[in-house]
Amino acid sequence: MSEQDDTALVLFSGGQDSTTCLAWALDRFARVETIGFAYGQRHAIELDCRARLLEGLAHMRPDWAAKLGCEHTLDIPTLAAISETALTRDVAIEIGADGLPNTFVPGRNLVFLTFAAALAYRRGIRHIVGGMCETDYSGYPDCRDETIKALQTALSLGMARSFELHTPLMWLSKAATWQLAHDLGGRGLVDLIRDQSHTCYLGERGARHDWGHGCGQCPACELRANGWHAYVGGGS
Ligand code: ZN
Repeated sequence: MSEQDDTALVLFSGGQDSTTCLAWALDRFARVETIGFAYGQRHAIELDCRARLLEGLAHMRPDWAAKLGCEHTLDIPTLAAISETALTRDVAIEIGADGLPNTFVPGRNLVFLTFAAALAYRRGIRHIVGGMCETDYSGYPDCRDETIKALQTALSLGMARSFELHTPLMWLSKAATWQLAHDLGGRGLVDLIRDQSHTCYLGERGARHDWGHGCGQCPACELRANGWHAYVGGGS
């Protein structure tokens, strides 16, 4: 199969970042497919948010609805079986001796992007979009631009395809990510992402804060809340 240059595969978890990336891809590509991973995450509820987000995006923009293609969900329980992390075990979130939070799942983005590329290979897609970000992030080494660039080279060499890994949020603050959502889809998209996307590491969706649902205490909620307040306050 020849590679399609007008199609993108978006890593879509149901979170704020990946939903913004999905809108970014819908704005640029003629056809967009999505891929999500069930890896034993405590906040697997994020995957359930995807259907409401896709429905909302399609309802908001008929032109985007026409571009949305297959949704793929891959089960990779192995990652949780071999990882000792607060995202896959019921333990408190804390900073480890290496300075990294124990929410870091070693190899996660490397595995995700490798599976995404393997699927993209089969689908004849060369553009892969992910929400990795080096600004306002948790220090995860697999979110670094250098890591993504190295992986793009490795995947392209290893599969003899010229994959392009797009990370539109790489240099954006969380406030700037909200602004990007506004630029792409106006207030409607901002509201959809705020109300329907999931960020909280603990998987809580009970309370509805001004920045969306979540426990309000975990590092992911804290980052999202700070970004939202900087956005509505006009700073970024
Ligand atoms: Zn939380």
